Amino acid sequence: MSKVHNWQIGREMNYPYPQVFPRRQFAFVFNINRCIACQSCTMACKSTWTFSKGQEHMWWANVETKPYGGYPQFWDAKILDLMEKANPGNQQWSGKPSDDKQKPYGQFDGKTIFEAQNLLTPDSARVLGYLPTDEEWNLPNIFEDNPVGKRGVRNEIDKEGTTLPEHKTWFFYLARICNHCSYPACLAACPRKAIYKRPEDGIVLIDQSECRGYRKCVEACPYKKSMYRGNTRVSEKCVACYPRVEGKDPESGGQPMETRCMAACIGQIRMQGLVKMNNDGSWAEDRYNPLYYMVHVAKVALPLYPQFGTEPNGYYIPPRWVPRDYLKQMFGPGVDNAIERYSYPDRELLAVLQLFRRSNKIIFRYEIKEGPKIYEATLRGRKITMYNDTVIAYGQNGKEIFRTQVEEPVHVRPNKHANSI
Ligand code: SF4
Ligand code: SF4
Repeated sequence: MSKVHNWQIGREMNYPYPQVFPRRQFAFVFNINRCIACQSCTMACKSTWTFSKGQEHMWWANVETKPYGGYPQFWDAKILDLMEKANPGNQQWSGKPSDDKQKPYGQFDGKTIFEAQNLLTPDSARVLGYLPTDEEWNLPNIFEDNPVGKRGVRNEIDKEGTTLPEHKTWFFYLARICNHCSYPACLAACPRKAIYKRPEDGIVLIDQSECRGYRKCVEACPYKKSMYRGNTRVSEKCVACYPRVEGKDPESGGQPMETRCMAACIGQIRMQGLVKMNNDGSWAEDRYNPLYYMVHVAKVALPLYPQFGTEPNGYYIPPRWVPRDYLKQMFGPGVDNAIERYSYPDRELLAVLQLFRRSNKIIFRYEIKEGPKIYEATLRGRKITMYNDTVIAYGQNGKEIFRTQVEEPVHVRPNKHANSI
């Protein structure tokens, strides 16, 4: 085991290999508050990559209904249970979220999946994990739209109504793909060294010619995003649509494009990019990269289960209506701050949120041009002011991709088409 630094858990941790970081890292932000579970992302991925024989139950991108849903079923509850068994009562965070870039969410004092040695069996000698049963992979969105009531009872409707910021009955949609982790558990567990992380963009891939289908990656990935294909007898996983990210899509004009699941998103919840990395694995300061801004400046987007220890590169704006304890288990101690920022967005955040899904090209930098004041109100006892600022997105080549405004434009249909749709 090597000692590596994991900034998401605010400390050094054990990992089977020494730390090596890519020059740039594939990363994304999903705004859970806007997901409508239309599954356009899921189908965009399936129709691109997993439509062949043997891939029938393979969903590299999926959207599941929390708290009961999961693909494979109960994936997160099962790994959290195992971690708790390995370190009973001690899976806790200490300290507080702060501006320290080495520990922005405080410190996780419990054991990660690489450190829970007391539960490791000879078969899983590197990473704490488990192999889901075939049945658990059957349904990509089991318990769809099942709410939980205030006493934790499924489908119970609370007749007293709701109070903000937390509803008394709740569920939410969790959209998921491979996190292209900085410390991938799939890669750590592979006895064939068939899994690698690309130095140019941090995308994690399985070399199909090296894989022998031992399924160690399936067992080890805590997010269960590496999957076994029975008819080829090798494992497969999300490839981050790497030809698009490389700018090789015919539509791209040579510029990096976002993945298919991002591009298809009807709810406009998804933004994907490439962030610059320092040699120590932290994100290089890049103030006007929208992902850097949301993760490190506004701190409105948080990693999914940072306590697993893989340093996932998927970040989520947490849903406002869900009990905080549940969210803190899922996204760590930064939840209160993130929801506060999202519920009362300042001028810059409101402008940056307009960048989602106006283009399929990857945004490398944004600029805001101030506009007039358009709205003033009191929201839950607080004064809010809106400005019609213009936000401009620039691509890798420094050229403008698009510009958009905070206030949505009104389009008036000409009379001659008044009744057409
Ligand atoms: S999410 Fe799982 S499959 Fe993807 S890089 Fe991380 S450990 Fe590997
Ligand atoms: S396409 Fe977007 S809105 Fe629809 S389910 Fe996927 S993430 Fe949610």
